Amino acid sequence: MKPWMYLVLAALVIAFGVAVVVVSRRRAERSIEAPSRPPSAPSPEAPQRGGTAVLEPDIVEPEVVAPPATLRERMARARSAFAGAFTGILGRSGITSETWDELEEALLRADVGIGVTTGLLDGLRADVKERSITEPAELLDALQGEMRQRLAGADRTLHFEPDEDATDGFSPNVWLFVGVNGVGKTTTIGKVAEQQRVAGRSVLMAAGDTFRAAAAEQLTTWAERAEAELVRGNEGGDPSAVVFDAVERAAARSIDLVLADTAGRLHTKTNLMEELRKVRRVAEKGAGRVTEVLLVIDATTGQNGLAQAREFGDATQVTGVVLTKLDGSAKGGIVFAIEIELGLPVKLVGIGETIGDLVPFEPDEFVGALFDV
Ligand code: GDP
Repeated sequence: MKPWMYLVLAALVIAFGVAVVVVSRRRAERSIEAPSRPPSAPSPEAPQRGGTAVLEPDIVEPEVVAPPATLRERMARARSAFAGAFTGILGRSGITSETWDELEEALLRADVGIGVTTGLLDGLRADVKERSITEPAELLDALQGEMRQRLAGADRTLHFEPDEDATDGFSPNVWLFVGVNGVGKTTTIGKVAEQQRVAGRSVLMAAGDTFRAAAAEQLTTWAERAEAELVRGNEGGDPSAVVFDAVERAAARSIDLVLADTAGRLHTKTNLMEELRKVRRVAEKGAGRVTEVLLVIDATTGQNGLAQAREFGDATQVTGVVLTKLDGSAKGGIVFAIEIELGLPVKLVGIGETIGDLVPFEPDEFVGALFDV
């Protein structure tokens, strides 16, 4: 071969190599651009009825469910309110005037309230005398007994009346949730919806808090989590209209239970109570039956919660209390004030922010947890 032939051959080899590299790069780029799955279909618009949107539950990935928390585990702060006093009392050889002072102080610090504290200690003194109690440990046992006795006997069931005869149209149960802003109404509705779904009931949520901008959004998230339907209105709209539409929709679709959120704050307090009365009337105007009005109280607010309970109780015929945030409160004593002073049963307690953190109120477990130092 002549020398120029070698040069031509070398040029051809280089050109072929370059062509192979370019082609394989292009292929690689195309495979990165290609969609790995077909694009998802756009979500359908929610159907509109009279300004009220009706949202079907989305399909959501199942949550990883943590084992249920117990009341005892979550009551560390409430327990701590008593712990110091109990240790002091148990450290003495007998029952002295300091013992009584310490007990009184601990009860007041836990927000049991002055009236109920006096009542409890009077009962305890009588018990000590009658049973000739001299040992500090026996005294604390007797106090536990007094506390349990005062919480015994209340009806803590969540009332639900099944519609046995739906020939003249289905009649859903309605549970109204009332209480001031921030106490945990929306969160509690989500938790209750989940429990009721697990118990086999179909649930629809009514976003009746049309005054707080984020409330309906928040309830939408909870409805997805609890696989419940949701009826929401326009922001600033009429809460009664939302609840009315929700009840009508539940009746039309034979949904067992409507959980209705309500506003916790309006422009003036008088208007709020008036509005809540109206919501209740309207909820029963059509097919609905209001079988529970649950007042939600934040345990961390202590005795302030009591003033709210009085006001809401007068306006809305409260049937029970949900005490939230007991997990973060040293003021668990508010339970005694609510039950003894107001005669309202605490039915549920919130012990955290996730969907499983709501438990039925069990007085024996509650009192036991306070004394378990
Ligand atoms: P609403 O304004 O009454 O509807 O109150 P939200 O449901 O929006 O709750 C207010 C805040 O309290 C939120 O940050 C909730 O996560 C929180 N919350 C509600 N219940 C509980 C509870 O039982 N324990 C704790 N630690 N936080 C709670």
